[in-house]
Amino acid sequence: MATGFSFTLNATDGRARTGVISTPRGEIRTPAFMPVGTAATVKAMLPESVRATGADILLGNTYHLMLRPGAERVARLGGLHKFMNWERPILTDSGGFQVMSLSSLRKMTEEGVTFSSHIDGSKHALTPERSMEIQKLLGSDIVMAFDECTPFPATGEVSLASMQRSMRWAQRSRDAFGDRPGHALFGIQQGSVFPEQRAESAEALKAIGFDGYAVGGLAVGEGQEKMFEVLDYAPGMLPEDRPRYLMGVGKPDDIVGAVKRGIDMMDCVLPTRSGRTGQAWTRRGQVNLRNARHAEDTRPLDEACTCPACRSYSRAYLHHVVRADEMIAGMLLTWHNLHYFQEIMAGMRAAIAAGRFAEWETGFHTLRAEGDIEPV
Ligand SMILES: [Zn+2]
Repeated sequence: MATGFSFTLNATDGRARTGVISTPRGEIRTPAFMPVGTAATVKAMLPESVRATGADILLGNTYHLMLRPGAERVARLGGLHKFMNWERPILTDSGGFQVMSLSSLRKMTEEGVTFSSHIDGSKHALTPERSMEIQKLLGSDIVMAFDECTPFPATGEVSLASMQRSMRWAQRSRDAFGDRPGHALFGIQQGSVFPEQRAESAEALKAIGFDGYAVGGLAVGEGQEKMFEVLDYAPGMLPEDRPRYLMGVGKPDDIVGAVKRGIDMMDCVLPTRSGRTGQAWTRRGQVNLRNARHAEDTRPLDEACTCPACRSYSRAYLHHVVRADEMIAGMLLTWHNLHYFQEIMAGMRAAIAAGRFAEWETGFHTLRAEGDIEPV
């Protein structure tokens, strides 16, 4: 494992795990939820507010940052941490997934992918080597290997060819990353919904050797049932003593189900994105603040929540600012959602440490099943 970077597993309960990833920029308590700071900002939040919700680490998007403001410019300005005023760990994705989902005129070859920017149409290339260079310029603490996120559904044949190319790119990523004390490189398992391909991918990655391992190619439209099916076996193919990261997940019940199946890290735009559209996630499920039922409701969004939105404002106020399209609506609801997601993580960490994850999980599902409080 890279010098200055370590993972300590403190307790397991069933397949659920809790531990600590240590980096020179601070500790990451696992299971960890990483808020997404796409364009060098977690939208509608100050970095100190993100930290106050309990986040130990942020995710930055290579694709967005390479196009605007540009990785070389971020490097000249002192790196991403200084640029965005976040001193703690940052994980960056490889850019591959977003090239495929956002850019136009993509062309993929064994070398990598060329594409046109979704912002101004300018031409760019991303290869394993360039992805490693960009993530280094950004100053990322946890760097992701460059891979192809196999689309879903894919035939066994298509998935196999895609996975095997990703494994060749994983080796090129490893070679290009080199030896960078204090910085970690994670490999990404592919193989879609095929157990034998997941196993082949895991073996290839282990032979190369990474500081952590992601389960890739999930949360791409396969649905929760299929995702859990894969998570029933895929994490167990990866080394016990390294962090396991599930990319792009998810809804609260996806997160809980993933942790139950041995996942240590996750990221998702859901809490921030829904916060900007009037959607709140609470212990009792999803609440749409735009709904007229909240117009004269003086109660907090969640009486048990200690975030600023719940401590100092009524549902009626949140409803009003959502309807009036006021910026504070996105600010308050993003804060609440991030706070709630971090509360889930803290709850699971404590439950796993105490050997009562199953009990915690039952409580989580029971309260959600009850649904939101009755209208006034
Ligand atoms: Zn709250």
